[in-house]
Amino acid sequence: MKRPNIIVIMTDDHAAHSMSCYGSKINTTPHLDRIANEGMRFDNCFCTNAICAPSRAVILTGKHSHVNGVRTLDDHFDSSQNTFVTELKKAGYSTAMIGKWHLGQEEKNWPRGFDYWTIFPGQGDYFDPVMNEMGENKVFEGYATDIVTDQSINWLKERENNQPFCLLCYHKAPHRPWQPDDKHKDMYKDVDIPIPTTFDDNYENRSEAAKRAKMRIVEDMNSNDLKIETPANILEVGNAIPTNNEGDYARKTNRLRIPMPDDLEGYTFTTRDGEEVKFDSLEELKNWKYQRYIKDYLRCVASVDDNVGRLLDYLKEEDLDQETIVIYTSDQGFFLGDHGWFDKRFMYEESLRMPLLVKYPEKIKEGLSTEQMVLNLDFAPTLLDFAGVAIPEDMQGKSFRRVLEEKEEEEFREDMYYRYWMHLAHHGVAAHYGIRTKKYKLIYYYGEALGTAGSIDDSTEPEWEFFDLVKDPCEMYNRYEDEAYSDVIKELKQRLIQLKDEAGDKDKL
Ligand code: CA
Repeated sequence: MKRPNIIVIMTDDHAAHSMSCYGSKINTTPHLDRIANEGMRFDNCFCTNAICAPSRAVILTGKHSHVNGVRTLDDHFDSSQNTFVTELKKAGYSTAMIGKWHLGQEEKNWPRGFDYWTIFPGQGDYFDPVMNEMGENKVFEGYATDIVTDQSINWLKERENNQPFCLLCYHKAPHRPWQPDDKHKDMYKDVDIPIPTTFDDNYENRSEAAKRAKMRIVEDMNSNDLKIETPANILEVGNAIPTNNEGDYARKTNRLRIPMPDDLEGYTFTTRDGEEVKFDSLEELKNWKYQRYIKDYLRCVASVDDNVGRLLDYLKEEDLDQETIVIYTSDQGFFLGDHGWFDKRFMYEESLRMPLLVKYPEKIKEGLSTEQMVLNLDFAPTLLDFAGVAIPEDMQGKSFRRVLEEKEEEEFREDMYYRYWMHLAHHGVAAHYGIRTKKYKLIYYYGEALGTAGSIDDSTEPEWEFFDLVKDPCEMYNRYEDEAYSDVIKELKQRLIQLKDEAGDKDKL
């Protein structure tokens, strides 16, 4: 059997609703759309834990967070464990990892199973980033998204031609602090980006967890987010305890927010371009903050889109595109002003849903889309399946190759198990677990931090949320107390216990 080449392009925090192939109302992504047009778009791809490092570890290992050991941002990846890449390498693939690894900075956390790797230490910088190339730190001049693409293309040029390859091209963008390159810095300058319908959500019919979260664009953005000179009256938000690791400084500055004014008299910002901004109404101020955030986010996405185009062009020029599986995804979704928020973590739709586009012209038809539910847990077994490599028995995900080849007649997954561990650690989001089916979602905020490094010894009242996703797709009404759903909720609770058990999550909660 001829074995396919594999390229996984992954971005950080890129929500599907900012891609035109997913019907974005706020931007266009012509090159990402090429992957969708030449292959399959997944409309229900979800992550099992909507936070960066944990989702990355799930993708590599095909195992849930509590099994691969990366439950939180403070759990670093034990690279001695097998991943889909170590299996491909054993089977003779040439392998490379370029870009954002984000799974720990010590040698025991470095990529394993790769012929070549170069990674940002930690989060990485947008401009002139330091990269750890096979154990040696070097500065690379330029913009991170361009650099990761250049290095990916260079590696493809220099690889051994007689072997199939697997390249992980993992971008930093569009992660906070959303710094666009010069080429895109004036994009959207004279336009207003539409505001999402749930932007003014007041969390009235929802959990205390939703009300408590400190990720509101209006109230919780800091001067780095808004690219303004730091005013004198900044406040600290969230209640994370400082840790001594590399993320400490970033997390501390992330918690400094600019309070909303009681009245607008004399209230101004000076932008880092030296412009003084005044506001006539609170509505105007709210809109200004949203525009400031979303435009920079979308500018970072535009650079990703251009660079994906470059990589696709290279594959075509080299006549590699027919025999190469190209995947585009992101480690989780993101709130783009939805519910008034930025950030992720919650099991709500915008952060739970991952973009997933897959093309492989030899085996997958053009222009397909599917509503089948697949998970980040399933990527590793799917890729091994296409490569004709045995799927290790301890991988918990399952191959969705038959979905891609349009041979799957059953529901691939009826439901999924989700868990977020970092209780109140960042943005004040409470730990929770839950179940999502095609129609419903049940979330349990269990109210405490359990063995979670970097989290705090604090507790909140446990609480439940239930959403009817058909009637309430924006998740604005918690129907947990609604009698009409009591039987449904009872069944979901039973199934949730079963899914938790099947996932091997033994915490008694
Ligand atoms: Ca992320």
